[in-house]
Amino acid sequence: MEKHDCVIIGSGPAGYTAAIYAARADLKPIIYTGLEPGGQLTTTTDVENFPGYPEGIMGPAMMEDLRKQAERFGTEIRFGMVTKAELSKIGGEYHKLIIDESKEVLARTVIIATGASAKYLGLESEKNMMGHGVSACAICDGFFFKGKDVVVVGGGDSAAEEATYLAKLCPKVTLLVRKDHMKASQIMQQRVENTANIEVLWNTETLEVLGEKTVTGVRVKNTETGEESVVEAEGFFVAIGHKPNTDIFQGQIDMDEVGYIKTKPGTASTNLPGVFATGDAQDKNYRQAITAAGSGCMGALEAERYLQEYEVAVES
Ligand code: NDP
Repeated sequence: MEKHDCVIIGSGPAGYTAAIYAARADLKPIIYTGLEPGGQLTTTTDVENFPGYPEGIMGPAMMEDLRKQAERFGTEIRFGMVTKAELSKIGGEYHKLIIDESKEVLARTVIIATGASAKYLGLESEKNMMGHGVSACAICDGFFFKGKDVVVVGGGDSAAEEATYLAKLCPKVTLLVRKDHMKASQIMQQRVENTANIEVLWNTETLEVLGEKTVTGVRVKNTETGEESVVEAEGFFVAIGHKPNTDIFQGQIDMDEVGYIKTKPGTASTNLPGVFATGDAQDKNYRQAITAAGSGCMGALEAERYLQEYEVAVES
């Protein structure tokens, strides 16, 4: 069976940054890309907030650059999905990963960089308008809607945060909440209430995102009265939560109730020796490419130290 010092699972900014650092430390890392090489950023257009790109860069182009940078130092990039993991609880032991339900590889350190996926409503019209006015990230895409009216759907902290963020850029933000109350924390709800250009439509369900080439509005229904209406808007932001892609580690590693992997504060270390969690798989607060990249760096540095410490322990 193949044995490696360092296997990185996932190929977003966290995975590639971990690979750059691990490869430069001569850990000869292997990356398994997952089904979407490059991760969430390959589905966005301009990235304007990643330092070092004064003119901005297209998401797929940035991920291509990161891939090349990781390869330049000797990372082996493999298109494949880790479909099962058998993580060891004992320091120094190999962790077993099963690739595409067949091939098995052993890794002394595993860097989890599997990311998270934004949840969507599941409407056909929402899917068709993705990248043409439909977004799941106000911080990433809000700027493109400066001066335009937008709709945000959701009732949690994310929706409240996205609505208040967008309210600074847009003349009007309509927040669609499906119940008669919000799930968001009190303080976030107060921020929404105190923002004059946010209008909350309670008991409101989204029926259809309207528009041919770009979004022109949203057809909604009041679930109390059954009345349908159209909210005119050029942007439609879905903020109904994210799901970390951590199902394969369920029951083996410490996670919160939603599935975000728990790391020791200020580190990428998990409760398992030699297993490090980076990027959106362990971060429900920031979820930015730059924070993912930073945590990828931490994961690789910690993997390197772990391998060094273990070698010292074996030799002594
Ligand atoms: P949550 O799961 O907390 O909330 C999701 C919201 O979306 C709920 O109000 C839910 O409605 C609504 N929703 C779900 N499905 C649909 C649907 N199909 N149609 C319409 N509405 C829907 O997710 P968040 O992303 O808001 O938050 C996740 C975690 O991250 C939380 O712990 C939160 O506190 C944290 N967070 C913290 C922030 C901060 O502190 N600055 C910022 C952002 C997130 P319903 O209420 O009816 O179930």
